[in-house]
Amino acid sequence: MSRQRAIATEQIHHAYRAPEGWEAVPVGVYKASTVLFKNTADLHKPRPRDGLSYRYGLHGTPTSYTLAARIASLEGGTHCLLTPSGLSAVTLVSMALLRPGDEVLVPDNVYGQNRYLTESWLPQFGITHRVYDPLDVAGFKALLSEKTRLVWLEAAGSITLEFPDLLALVAACRERSIVCALDNTWGAGVAFKPFELAPGLGVDISMQALTKYPSGGADVLMGSVVTRDAALHERLNHAHEHLGYGLGQNDVELVLRGLPSLELRYRAQDACTRALAAWMAQRPEVARVLHPALPDSPGHAHWQALSAGGAACLFSVVFQPEYGPAEVDAFVDALQLFGIGYSWAGPMSLAVPYDMRRSRNLGLPYPAERIVRFAIGLEAEADLRADLAQALSVLRPR
Ligand SMILES: *Cc1c(COP(=O)(O)O)cnc(C)c1O
Repeated sequence: MSRQRAIATEQIHHAYRAPEGWEAVPVGVYKASTVLFKNTADLHKPRPRDGLSYRYGLHGTPTSYTLAARIASLEGGTHCLLTPSGLSAVTLVSMALLRPGDEVLVPDNVYGQNRYLTESWLPQFGITHRVYDPLDVAGFKALLSEKTRLVWLEAAGSITLEFPDLLALVAACRERSIVCALDNTWGAGVAFKPFELAPGLGVDISMQALTKYPSGGADVLMGSVVTRDAALHERLNHAHEHLGYGLGQNDVELVLRGLPSLELRYRAQDACTRALAAWMAQRPEVARVLHPALPDSPGHAHWQALSAGGAACLFSVVFQPEYGPAEVDAFVDALQLFGIGYSWAGPMSLAVPYDMRRSRNLGLPYPAERIVRFAIGLEAEADLRADLAQALSVLRPR
C-alpha cells in the first residue's frame, strides 16, 4: 500500500491536471517565479530570452508574451519588451543605447520624467544631452553631431501639445544613422503608425506608457518598447535582462482586458476632448487652447498631415493675463467632475495646473505661469461642459 502523503505535500504535488482544450475569449493569467522543467536535460537546454520559451517568471509567462505580441501589432512593430511603468520603458531605451561620451537629444516639451532622467541621472555615466525646439527642424539638424546616439521624439508634446514635423525629424536621424525613439503614449498606436510615417520611413523605437490608453482603467502602471529591428531589439533585451524588470501578471491581465476597447475609447475620448477644447477656446476668460486639431495650436499642420484625424484626450488652456496663478488654481479647485491628479486616458476626467516656467529651457510664446492641462475621461460631454462653465463662473480677475 502506498504511503499517505501529508496534506501540504499532497496539495503542492496534486496529480490532477485540468483537461486540455480549454478555449475562451480572455487569455489565462499564468503567474510564476519558478518555471518547472521536465527533467535535467530539459533544464540544461539553452533557452534564449526570445519570447519563444520559458525559463523563469521574470522573463515572461504565456500571459505577458501574449500582451507583448498584441502591443507589437498595435504599434506596427515586430518585437516588444514590457516594463513595469512607462518611465522604466524610457529608462530602458536610454540605458540600453547610450554609453560614456554619447549624446542624447530630447525635445523641450519632452515628458517631464524623461527630462529629469536625462538631466540628472545620465550625466553620471558621462552621457551628455541637448534640448531641441520640437518645431524647429533646422535648429534640430544643427544639434546632431558625431556624438549623437539617440534622439527622443514626442508627438504631441506633454502638456503643451506641440506637434512636430515627425517626418522631417525622423528623416534627419535616418540620414545620419542615429536611432530615434518616439514616446508614443499620446498616439497610442491609434492616431498614426510610428513605423510607417511615410512609405519606408518610420521611427526605430516606439515606446508607450501602457498606463494610459492600453490600460484605460487608471489602475495599472506598465510600459512597452517596440521595434521592427531584431538587432536593436536584442540590444534593448540585453539591458532589460540586467535591469531585472518584472511584471505582475494580474496587471498584465488588466492591460489585456483594456486592449479590445482601446480604439473605441480613443475615438470617443477624442471627440469629447475636441468638443470641449473648441468650447473653451470660445470663452472670454481663455487666451488660447492647445490641442493639435485647433488651427492655431503649434504644429497643427504637421498633425493634420500625419495623423489621419486621431488625437488623444488632452488639451491645455492658457488663461487671459488678468487671471493669475491663484485665480487659476481656484478655478481648478471649483471643478467637481474633474479630479486633480497625474496620468490620463482613464475613466475620470482630470485637470492639473502647471507652472511651465521651470520645465522649459527654450521658453514659450505665451505666458506660462499657469496653464491647465485637461485630460478627458469617459463622462458625458454635456456634464463636463456644465462643470467647466460653473467653475469658470467663479473665476475672478486678480
Ligand atoms: C505617463 C507618461 C509616461 C510615463 O508613464 P508611467 O507609467 O506613469 O511611468 C511617459 N511618457 C508619457 C508621454 C506619459 O504621458
